[in-house]
Amino acid sequence: MRAKERRFKGVGVSPGIAVGTAYVADRGALRAPEYRIDKSEVAAEEARFTAAVAAAREQLQALQAKASSLRGAAAEEFGYLLDAHLHMLAGSRLVRSVNAIIAKELVNCEAAVARSVEQIEGDFRALDDPYMAARLQDVREVGMRLLRTLMSRPVAGFEHVPEGSIIVADEITPADTALMDKGRIEGFVTATGGAEGHTAIMARSLGLPAVLGLAGIANEIHAGARLVVDGGEGVVIVNPSAATLRVYEARRAAAAADRAKLAALTHLPATTLDGEEIRLHINMELPQELAAAARVGASGVGLLRSEFMFMNRPDLPDEEEQYEILRTLVAGMAGRPLTVRTLDVGGDKLADALNASSGDGGNPALGLRAIRYALKNRQVLEAQLAAMLRAAAHGPLRILLPMISTVDEVSEVRAVMADLAPRLRRRGADLPEVLPPVGVMIEVPAAALAADSLARVADFFSIGTNDLTMYTLAIDRGNEQVAHLYDPMNPAVLRLVQFTTEAARRAGIPVNICGEMAGDERFTGLLVGLGLREMSMSPLALPRVKRRLRNLEAAAARALAEAVMTTVDRSRIARLVETFNDAVGQRIFAAGQDKRRSRTQHIHI
Ligand code: PEP
Ligand code: MG
Repeated sequence: MRAKERRFKGVGVSPGIAVGTAYVADRGALRAPEYRIDKSEVAAEEARFTAAVAAAREQLQALQAKASSLRGAAAEEFGYLLDAHLHMLAGSRLVRSVNAIIAKELVNCEAAVARSVEQIEGDFRALDDPYMAARLQDVREVGMRLLRTLMSRPVAGFEHVPEGSIIVADEITPADTALMDKGRIEGFVTATGGAEGHTAIMARSLGLPAVLGLAGIANEIHAGARLVVDGGEGVVIVNPSAATLRVYEARRAAAAADRAKLAALTHLPATTLDGEEIRLHINMELPQELAAAARVGASGVGLLRSEFMFMNRPDLPDEEEQYEILRTLVAGMAGRPLTVRTLDVGGDKLADALNASSGDGGNPALGLRAIRYALKNRQVLEAQLAAMLRAAAHGPLRILLPMISTVDEVSEVRAVMADLAPRLRRRGADLPEVLPPVGVMIEVPAAALAADSLARVADFFSIGTNDLTMYTLAIDRGNEQVAHLYDPMNPAVLRLVQFTTEAARRAGIPVNICGEMAGDERFTGLLVGLGLREMSMSPLALPRVKRRLRNLEAAAARALAEAVMTTVDRSRIARLVETFNDAVGQRIFAAGQDKRRSRTQHIHI
């Protein structure tokens, strides 16, 4: 009998329809197999364990060799961690008790490792001491390393899943997403995460349909089940019936037809009906997106999130490695500007080599994140800035600073640059005569409120509405429990966007918007009305936003913004925006019909 069709509704974070086979990922603890052994097998089992310990030590020594190229606090922390783990493998209670358990309890060594970790855990917990709790984490990690070695299961990403898979997991990190191979993976479904979290942003940038925030989903779906994922509507269908599959195949075909229509816009200008030109850039998470910039006709990269260089590795990229990557990207942009943001580590963005030193505290989003981390870890900042300054010799590059909340932070970075540039020149590095512009992300309410002062030290602004909304409304952008409250159209957030655009206009500096709001065509009219003339978004979103722009009047958009900014009632704001969008939508539809009739190329589509 066919398994029954079941539907789940979560947060749709990356549009598109995927049909595929469930790959249920166990990203958490490995379950150790457990079986009894005969007395005569004890020696063999102990030998297996000794070999596993030796292999784990080799892995850690290889990591140590890599870590020796690190500098500063990160190197120190990482060094301590590796030392501690190596030490534990050299005869600690963990190792000693595994041999004892094998001999006494006559179980296989995987089971003995799991039991040994459990026993140590129990004893440490009884001590109720924060220092011991931290050591406990080390014990667990070493235990996991041993288990993975014994079970030949290296810490794996999703590179080797079968073709046509839809990943189902409790949690997928941005780093996991970066490793996903689009040739094999159709989409993914998780229990945690919200629409503006970095995993969601990654999914959109890879064009992978994704639904997040489905509590307990990994227990609901069996590996191998057939799935439909509607990443726009947030719907996941398990064991779809033939009728359901037909519906979704038809939707897929309609979406493909719409994409083909949108492709015709690539070489047309992003100009409103009354002639206002808007610069549309792309946000780039991974260098693979370079081709997409040209494909969608972007005027530049408005935000290169440099975190990808730090992900999925135990060490840090040095200046040379970063320079090579940036140089290739600058060259690939063929004269269009590349805006590179310094490292924004912390919050929900983690880089393995930096975790130890960025520390997450109780409130990671309010902690040592982004520019705060960089100013405290000068070597990391200097290596990034040096790579950027050198890459700027090959084409237009702009430097962008994340999570700025005071003028002093910008001045400090400028001082680092001023010190760095002559040193690089003395070293013989080729730098541009005029150093690249330095811009400030406006993504903390304090920055928006102090935009007038920041405009004096910044060459441009870029509004990050993802964090601005989160910090203004005190709503975690990556938490599915409060996802329904996350609202960039909240009057308080819009007020801060307006403050920023007005301060930029007064100071005569450009202002871009690079939060996810910029890529949502429902907000295009409002943003134009608020004075934005530069927007940066995922390549997937750009053609739709361009179509909107080409069918609206900036003058009408200004009237919309004026009406919105004098309205306090959130539902009335939504109605105003909807009415405006309906009118634009009708124009798009009418233009499509006209085009069909006349087959001329002149009408906006
Ligand atoms: C933002 O906060 O809006 C932004 C663009 O930065 P990120 O999403 O990388 O935090
Ligand atoms: Mg941000």
